[in-house]
Amino acid sequence: MSTDPRAYTYADDILKDRIILITGASDGIGKALALHAADLGAQVILHGRNVPKLEKVYDAIEGIDSAPRPSIAVLDLESANSESYTTLAQSIESEFGRLDGLVHNASILGERYSIEQYDAVLWQKVMHVNVTATFALTQVLLPLLHESQDPSVIFTSSGVGREGKPYWGAYAVSKFATEGLSQVLASEHSHGKLRANCINPGATRTSMRLAAYPAEDRDLLKRPDEILAAYVYLLGPDSKGVTGESFDAQ
Ligand code: NAP
Repeated sequence: MSTDPRAYTYADDILKDRIILITGASDGIGKALALHAADLGAQVILHGRNVPKLEKVYDAIEGIDSAPRPSIAVLDLESANSESYTTLAQSIESEFGRLDGLVHNASILGERYSIEQYDAVLWQKVMHVNVTATFALTQVLLPLLHESQDPSVIFTSSGVGREGKPYWGAYAVSKFATEGLSQVLASEHSHGKLRANCINPGATRTSMRLAAYPAEDRDLLKRPDEILAAYVYLLGPDSKGVTGESFDAQ
């Protein structure tokens, strides 16, 4: 790899004509990435479960000069069934015919308990939203990614998905699994066009971070819009051939 993605600089139309689906685009890092990618010329598909929040992001993108009009894809990753995944893929297929970028950003934190105390139902919910739904969405969208000349899949990891830490429970385990899913997908496509990589955003000022660290000084944290260079690098043409890696956004 020749580029440090954190220091990546790019032209202001670097994502022009790219069709990019971002999960969890209603808030936090996903929302900031959606706005920035649209500003850089991408045709963004805003995924989420909360229509009013998604519509606010949609309206903000419509207010950006030269940004292509986005689309909204509503799917609750907790309750979606195979039919809802197929419907989502079919609507992207009929509207765009391909997908150039897929950013798996949506996740839930669960609760910060010890393994001894962790509620088994909550454990399954976190693993389902953070891992199983990510697998299901990847699988159903792979045919559309294969229609792209330069497809890129980004998975979102975490520092606690690389080294086990106390009281991070299912969230940490789901992020280890996410790193694994990214590596398996990357190695299955090591001789093809598709690249798959992980990003660990690092401590970022969002609702999830607030839930995990309610007492910390939020002013010391980076805002979501300040950590996006690595995402742009992996979504754009300069990362061609980079696959199976795990990056830090900060
Ligand atoms: P966030 O502000 O809580 O945003 C999470 C996004 O995921 C929201 O858009 C949320 O939708 C969506 N989402 C959650 N459950 C969903 C479901 N069942 N169906 C559909 N969408 C769902 O979190 P964030 O901090 O931006 O986190 C983004 C990613 O970075 C996550 O993968 C997280 O694990 C990772 N990360 C964050 C940090 C950090 O410090 N912030 C550090 C390391 C890793 P709603 O708006 O409807 O809730």
